[in-house]
Formats: sequence, C-alpha cells, structure tokens
Amino acid sequence: MKKVVKFGGSSLASAEQFKKVGDIIRSDEGRRYVVPSAPGKRYSDDIKVTDMLYDCYRAAAVGEDFSKKLKRIQARYQEIIDGLSLNLSLDDDFAVIAENFKNQAGSDYAASRGEFLNGKVMADYLGYEFVDPANHIFFDEEGNLDADMTNESLAAKLSEIDRAVIPGFYGANYDGSVKTFSRGGSDVTGSIVAKAVRADIYENWTDVSGFLVTDPRIVDNPEVISTITYKELRELAYMGATVLHEDAIFPLRQEGIPINIRNTNRPLDKGTMIVESTCNKPKYTITGIAGKKGFASINIEKDMMNSEIGFGRKVLQVFEENHLSFEHVPSGIDTFTVYVHQDEFEDKEQNVIAGLHRAVQPDSIDLESDLALIAVVGRGMRRNRGTAARIFAALAHSHVNVKMIDQGSSELNIIIGVENRDFETAIRSIYDIFVLSQI
Ligand code: ASP
Repeated sequence: MKKVVKFGGSSLASAEQFKKVGDIIRSDEGRRYVVPSAPGKRYSDDIKVTDMLYDCYRAAAVGEDFSKKLKRIQARYQEIIDGLSLNLSLDDDFAVIAENFKNQAGSDYAASRGEFLNGKVMADYLGYEFVDPANHIFFDEEGNLDADMTNESLAAKLSEIDRAVIPGFYGANYDGSVKTFSRGGSDVTGSIVAKAVRADIYENWTDVSGFLVTDPRIVDNPEVISTITYKELRELAYMGATVLHEDAIFPLRQEGIPINIRNTNRPLDKGTMIVESTCNKPKYTITGIAGKKGFASINIEKDMMNSEIGFGRKVLQVFEENHLSFEHVPSGIDTFTVYVHQDEFEDKEQNVIAGLHRAVQPDSIDLESDLALIAVVGRGMRRNRGTAARIFAALAHSHVNVKMIDQGSSELNIIIGVENRDFETAIRSIYDIFVLSQI
C-alpha cells in the first residue's frame, strides 16, 4: 500500500497535535509520503503562521523593522520543536529568511516558508527525507500549474525515496522564484504527490470527521457523508460546502485515486471517501444539501417569446456584455428568468435593463432580490421516484415558498430557489425529511 497523507494546519498547530500526527503515520506502514501545511490555530482566536508570515512580509516590503514579527514566528516553531524534544535548530533558516525578506523576495516566498519550515520539523520528527517542492512543482508563465513537467519531476524524485516529507502550498515559478497556490493549497500539493507516486489513496487529515451532509451552522451535528463521488462533491462545493481545495480534485480524478477525508483528533472515524464512481449505495436518498444566499432574478416577459428564434442568446449576450455570469435560466413559454449574484448585479442593474430592452423589446422586466439557492445533491436520486415530492412536501410543511426549481438531466442535483429569509428553514426541513426521518 502506498498512501499520501496530507495534514492541515490545525493538525500541526502544536507539539501535542504533531504527536497525534506521528501516531497516525506510524500506525500504518503505507503512510509513506507526508504533506504538511503550516501550523494553524491552536485556539479559536490564535493566528495561523501563514497569516503571521504575510503580515511580517508586509512590514518588510515597506522597509519597516520586521524582526519582532519574525521572532514571534520562530517562537511558534520552537515551541513545537521543544515539545517534541527534537534536536533541531531553525536559526540558520530564519537568518536566510530574514535576509530574503530584506531583499524583497515577495509575499509568495514569505507565505511558503510556513510549510517549508514545518516540513523540516516534520521530516526530523519522523526521520523521513525532506523534499523541497520548489525543485519539483512548476508553474507556467500564466501562473498555472505545469502538470506534466511537475508530474515527471516529482515522480522521478519520489521513485528513489521510500518515505518523504513534501511541504504543501508552493512550487517554483517559470523564473525559479517561489510561487504558492491559492489559500488552502496544501490540499493541491497532496493531490499532485498522490498522482506522482500513483498512490492507492490520498488521505487528507483535518479537524472534521469528513464531509458533512449539510452546514453545521444550520443543522446541529449533521451526519458525515461516508462516500461521495467527485461529481456530487463538485455540485456541493460550488454551493459553498468546502472541506477540500477545489483544485485538489482534478489531478486525482484523472487517475482514479480516491481521497479519504479524516480527522486527526478522531483517527478511528472512517471519514469520507471521495471517489470517481461507486456501487456503494448512499445511506440516504440524498448525499448532501448546500446553498447560498444573495441572488437576484431578472424575469423577462414577452408574448410569443417561444417562437422567437435567438431570444435566449440575445438575452444572455446582454449579461455577457456586462461581464455577469448567470447561475440558472429557468424559462416558460413567454417568460425567461436569469439568476445572478446580487452583489455583482447591483451596480450594473440599469445597464442590463436598458440592454435587454434594446436586444429583445420585452413586454416587461421584473427584478427580484434577496433570493437563495439550495442544491439537493445525490446519486441516489437517479431513477428513484418521489424525491422531488418529498422535498417539496417538506418545504410546504415548513411554510417555505418555492420560487424556482431546476433539475439537471443528470438527476444528480435539484436546485431550489427560495427567499433569503427562508434559507435556513428550508435546509433544515430537507435534512429532517431525508436524514432524521430516514426516508
Ligand atoms: N498554509 C496555507 C494557508 O493557510 C496553505 C494550507 O494550509 O493549505 O492557506
């Protein structure tokens, strides 16, 4: 078994957390490639080392004295090193970092040091080899990952090494300077490493026991999803449910490598398996519910619209010209509605109305704001009768008025539009009917 294990910042925030991670790695021979994040928060109002580094570099970039800020960062690592009783000094590394900060090495370089240093501590603690991703993960001139070059280099390097620590979050620009992924990007490094070593599984260790059926801020203690497909995850993630960096999916999906989300603080929990495809029947008809507030709808009415060829294209062109992306376009015989993000739309509202009048001469245009969209997602809905009936019965019982319904042909997802103020009630009632009532 070859496993790549990525640990998030909260899993590595203190020596105590490092010890849990050490136990997890040592308990399974297969856990051979380790991708650490930078130390995260030890308690809720603590500051992540990555944020401390950005802050420290901001001072350096404007020529302020940043030595105190850097000392505080070094103290975070020293606390971990002491707590693990390691015989490791990062003094030389911090001297190099201070020098590079003075020479304006850039904020990506600064932020990447969080993972770089934690990787050194981790490698020392485990007795694994340290591999610097700046030598093996490459970005192209547009700033995108050069997937082929990266895979070739990383695969060659790691084929020589039985056990390694590869810090997350960064690689090298085409000019050799350090470049980071976007925030949370250690997840992406984990995927890239898993692909390069052709891992059997990519374990992503965090502080929750997996992907939850719905948002715990809305439903108390929602159930954990045991298995989810990449497609379902994408639908839920798009609607705001996050546990993994979006770009972490792509490298693995191509290779069919499953991801297992695990909880460092509850290592016996099985977590969530994210897979390309599965025969595994979901426990409930639905896999997850996610949603977002803050949409506006533009309802366009025109008699005989249905026979006017090109009507939809002309409408959508107005949105394109105003640089607005649309979310959904439910339509009727003589009506055509476009859902957009309210905050993006507000400033452009009058331009859009004028554009629509010019483009399609509608009978009326009616705007509505403060709408929310809810996605009910599940591979179990396919070829299953009655799912929609249950959703809408639950909403009716909760006195939620449904403004829009959209079910894609994949039958993987039913999108429901409601008013913002009904959002939480709607999610709770859908969760209740499918999960608590176990239908
Ligand atoms: N340390 C980085 C961040 O805070 C990357 C990561 O944790 O994945 O965003």
